[in-house]
Amino acid sequence: MIIVPEKEIAGLVSEEQAFKAVEQVFASMSKRSAYNFPVIREAIGHADALYGFKSGFDREALNLGLKSGGYWPGNADKGLTNHQSTVFLFDADTGKARAVVGGNLLTALRTAAASAVSIAHLARKDAKVLGMVGAGHQSTFQMRAALRQRDFEKVIGWNLHPEMLSRLEDTAGEFGLPFEAVDLDRMGADADVIITITSSFDAILKADQVTPGTHLACMGTDTKGKQEVDAALLAKASVFTDEVAQSVTIGEAQHAIAEGLINESDIAEIGAVINASHPGRTSDDEITLFDGTGVGLQDLAVASAVVDLAVERGVAIEVDF
Ligand code: NAD
Repeated sequence: MIIVPEKEIAGLVSEEQAFKAVEQVFASMSKRSAYNFPVIREAIGHADALYGFKSGFDREALNLGLKSGGYWPGNADKGLTNHQSTVFLFDADTGKARAVVGGNLLTALRTAAASAVSIAHLARKDAKVLGMVGAGHQSTFQMRAALRQRDFEKVIGWNLHPEMLSRLEDTAGEFGLPFEAVDLDRMGADADVIITITSSFDAILKADQVTPGTHLACMGTDTKGKQEVDAALLAKASVFTDEVAQSVTIGEAQHAIAEGLINESDIAEIGAVINASHPGRTSDDEITLFDGTGVGLQDLAVASAVVDLAVERGVAIEVDF
């Protein structure tokens, strides 16, 4: 069995490799060659922790396994990240344990890769202004992966806590791009692509603030009750997602579905666009919205790529198991 510790991940996997792994698995999910098993998430009654598993099997890539982890709110006081996760991979032919891979950085990379895949396939080709709603831990990963998808000339940002916006400015600066803090009217009016990545439980962006032709990647809503954009915006937009079952229950679409504004059949899988069985964006005026809920297969895909790279570069720890 192979172990790839958390500290090795940053030096192993690039954004491009994460993008390819996630794009492949979304395509595989849409062909029904890959499926996610039911998610387990429990408040364990200790250390205020939320703990769970996301798991699945990709028959094309032969990735079988799970991501185990959750949220420990007291970790920051111990000098640890509150979100903790580890990926376990198994040999699909024998069931033998194949690898244990640190999952913290991988979670950020696979989440950023998902919105980047949506931008690559759904945003207008001439998109120039990237809008960021949210400036937390995930936001810099999101921005870096997104900026590679189009010839962006400027980044604009909004955050409930404005003191955090310097993080977005610094990241835009890495790419030599100007950054401007804006209000939500300007966000909707000026941005060609908008990424939302917050822990909000109320709509931040309203439907009438978003202009025709915009692509939105809504990435923060991954739990029942969370919400980042007006439900009416989903009725106005062409809605895409990683997995429809999650989109309507824990994703951004849960609210539009509950209010009867859209039906489950109105939501398309991003994998279908990748496989060209769905046309994706059909006009420059269309608003496209990707509801990125986060599936276990994304974690397995990037972890598997990491294991291959670790073996190739001689940094994998091999143990008899
Ligand atoms: P973080 O705690 O580092 O940052 C939270 C962000 O949300 C900050 O920008 C903060 O200002 C903002 N925020 C907090 N409360 C808000 C409110 N009431 N209204 C508007 N904004 C608010 O978190 P993070 O690690 O950057 O994660 C952001 C979100 O992404 C979380 O909700 C997390 O669960 C989600 N997430 C989703 C996936 C996925 O696959 N879809 C993966 C990882 C994380």
